[in-house]
Amino acid sequence: MPLMTIRDIDVKGKRALVRVDFNVPLENGTVADDNRIKAALPTIQYLVESGAIVVLATHLGRPKGKRMEEFLLTPVAERLRFLLDRPVAYASDCIGDAVEGLVNSQKPGGIVLLENVRFYAEEEKNDPEFARKLARLGDIFVNDAFGTAHRAHASTRGVADYLPAVAGFLMQEEVAIMGRALAEPDRPFVAIIGGAKVSDKIMVIENLLPKVDSLIIGGGMANTFMRAKGYNIGKSLVEADKVDLAKSLLTKGGEKILLPSDVVIAREFKPEAENTVVSSDRIPDDWMVLDIGPETAMGFTEAIKQAKTAIWNGPMGVFEMPAFARGTLAVAQAMADSEGCTIVGGGDSVAALDMAHLADKMTHVSTGGGASLEFLEGRELPGVACLQTKD
Ligand code: ADP
Ligand code: MG
Repeated sequence: MPLMTIRDIDVKGKRALVRVDFNVPLENGTVADDNRIKAALPTIQYLVESGAIVVLATHLGRPKGKRMEEFLLTPVAERLRFLLDRPVAYASDCIGDAVEGLVNSQKPGGIVLLENVRFYAEEEKNDPEFARKLARLGDIFVNDAFGTAHRAHASTRGVADYLPAVAGFLMQEEVAIMGRALAEPDRPFVAIIGGAKVSDKIMVIENLLPKVDSLIIGGGMANTFMRAKGYNIGKSLVEADKVDLAKSLLTKGGEKILLPSDVVIAREFKPEAENTVVSSDRIPDDWMVLDIGPETAMGFTEAIKQAKTAIWNGPMGVFEMPAFARGTLAVAQAMADSEGCTIVGGGDSVAALDMAHLADKMTHVSTGGGASLEFLEGRELPGVACLQTKD
């Protein structure tokens, strides 16, 4: 059922406690990448224009329940003021009388940024008393932090026990687009799964296999599947304890599963390592697979271009080294050229997409690495499950 959003309720004059994901990388005391802040602006702007008082809560880094200088939100407050071109009151704490006073002194359209919620250990423990204190700062709870929706923390889940809870626009978009792709995809539906390890993505593969028309497997994890087919994989990265699982997935998946037919192999795990292309069943001892080969990239490209829905999670090779980035870039380009619905999730896949300057060519780039993975696994996210739905 679709999530209820801030558009579906009356927010005028209300204090909206908004959980955002402003967990951004910092460098020398400034925000190094403000994409996550930008992603929450539509929700903040809508609330401001609708006459709500906006109270923003986020975590930053892993301060482990202690107040730490390096995880103060000062740089975030600064960048937010710049992006909104409006005053933002920056609270010195996220709970307590002083913060309540600051919030309650705001006029409609006012914005308060609370200090890092993870300065309290109670946040990650989803402590009900701490959640109740946070909830005192709002009349409604708006969750726009898809990136933390897989965590049942006080500011992502706990506050919903005390306040009416709805989705922000970013949250709504993430859940609607990925939800639709999983539940009623336009076909052909193709999933491209890569990355280092099978073990990270077993549940994604198991959830997607019955739903997709083709499951493309590349990256380091393809080695384990090639071993399962009986190929020699030299000294490539492999998970020996997952070979049997890979065998059973190959049996279950049959023709649906596409593996690399050729691969780029290297002598060493180094950018300048001697490398060459071989057929997947001809990998010599003492060599390792670091990318899919050109023939494979062409085949994968064809499958992606024909798809009406394509979901991509995980690079096809060691894309951090230019010599082994071609397969990943080919997949990124095929996704960009596709006229169907294209969805990308996963931190490294999104990094590869940015490297190729193709992010804006996708239908949807998920802002949540871990959260999008759990979503693709078919799991219920606590920060989503607590939100009201429309029926
Ligand atoms: P994502 O963050 O998109 O979910 P993962 O974290 O699962 O992706 O995997 C990304 C990592 O996998 C990259 O650092 C990449 O170098 C590595 N990788 C991909 N292919 C190989 C390979 N053949 N051998 C070793 N590492 C690989
Ligand atoms: Mg990763």
